[in-house]
Amino acid sequence: MNQAPKIGLVSLGCPKALVDSERIMTTLRSQGYSFSRDYEGADIVLVNTCGFLDSAKQESLEAIGEALNENGRVIVTGCLGVEEGLIRETHPSVLAITGPHQYESVVSAVHQHLPPVPNRFVDLVPESGLKLTPRHYAYLKISEGCNNRCSFCIIPQIRGDLVSRPAAGILGEAEGLIRSGVKELLVISQDTSAYGVDVKFATSKYRGREVKAKFYDLAKELGQMGAWTRLHYVYPYPHVDQVIELMAEGLVLPYLDIPFQHASPNVLKSMRRPANQEKTLDRIKKWRDICPDLAIRSNFIVGYPGETEEDFEFLLDWLEEAEIDRAGCFKYEPVTGAPANELDGVVPEEVKDERFAQLMEVAQDVSFHRLQQKVGRTIDVIVDDVRPEENRVIARSKWDAPEIDGNVIVSNATGIKIGDIVSVTVTDNDEYDLFATPALH
Ligand code: SF4
Repeated sequence: MNQAPKIGLVSLGCPKALVDSERIMTTLRSQGYSFSRDYEGADIVLVNTCGFLDSAKQESLEAIGEALNENGRVIVTGCLGVEEGLIRETHPSVLAITGPHQYESVVSAVHQHLPPVPNRFVDLVPESGLKLTPRHYAYLKISEGCNNRCSFCIIPQIRGDLVSRPAAGILGEAEGLIRSGVKELLVISQDTSAYGVDVKFATSKYRGREVKAKFYDLAKELGQMGAWTRLHYVYPYPHVDQVIELMAEGLVLPYLDIPFQHASPNVLKSMRRPANQEKTLDRIKKWRDICPDLAIRSNFIVGYPGETEEDFEFLLDWLEEAEIDRAGCFKYEPVTGAPANELDGVVPEEVKDERFAQLMEVAQDVSFHRLQQKVGRTIDVIVDDVRPEENRVIARSKWDAPEIDGNVIVSNATGIKIGDIVSVTVTDNDEYDLFATPALH
């Protein structure tokens, strides 16, 4: 059995700092680390500092110095961590510095400098954490809550305002997932494009670099990790344009999941949707100029209170003009507690049913034509399922997210495993799926 990596812990300061130390220890212990009572037996030393008074700062600096002399590999966390300049000036060789209550950052710094050793005999949890998804793709949650107040939604009431995770914690998690075999990261949140707004885009240290908690910076960092990076729940804010350039460069998948919910300005206004502006069509055209391969998936609500026949027709025309590759549709339902329930103009159920059917018909038509344009191309696909008895595999293109979008059905496929990324030539399509054969090399 592999030996558990050992951590030495020096905990200074008040009871709050002590509780922080306990939390850090609990997390690390559950990940298979053990602890050493002396410097000698430790592979790395964690110093949880105090910075309340000058005397406490001095004591913390001395403790860091002692740990460096006795062991040499030191990570600093806690209140003095906010004064990184002071620590670096006195002790330039510390491995990483994180501030108070930054559990994720300190744990990810430990992972980086002393990776956990997976031990299949004692680990209840695999290296990548427990996942409900297959081994080759994983969801990566970058924030909780939402600052928007859409009239039909109660998520902010339940989950509160936006709370973004530090970039270092997300990147550390992504790295662990990729190490354990994940080939595709699905970035999720309630409002991915708002990532970091709540923390004013604060930086955190990842692999010796300061990384901003900002949508573009995070997308770029993730895109450089070598896995497919797919972005969900993005709103069409102007700063999204920059991320489309990352797609054109091939760093991030040419795929955007934007829950537009409607297109008619009246309905959008009543829905209080974020980034609601009349120029969205122009924005989409501009995106497609930058990245012609871009696929857009979206969701729409029909039968929202006050939606007129004109609003609905507007939506259908818009959907065609915007060429939404993948559209899902919900019939409006009054969720208990949602402000939209107070609105006049309730749409009868049979009208909702009719509009739903009409929208899905238009959406299928658009999807068919978009997919038809891919026929003849040679593309990379990721394999979700292998059916040897049928001599084919079920895969997905870069334009398809798992569970919600279509598939690429590859025939004459042999020697291919789940999770493989293979090159195929598209031979045909229907409304949802592409059909292909392995590409000849
Ligand atoms: S963006 Fe709107 S619909 Fe989405 S979670 Fe926030 S409030 Fe709800």
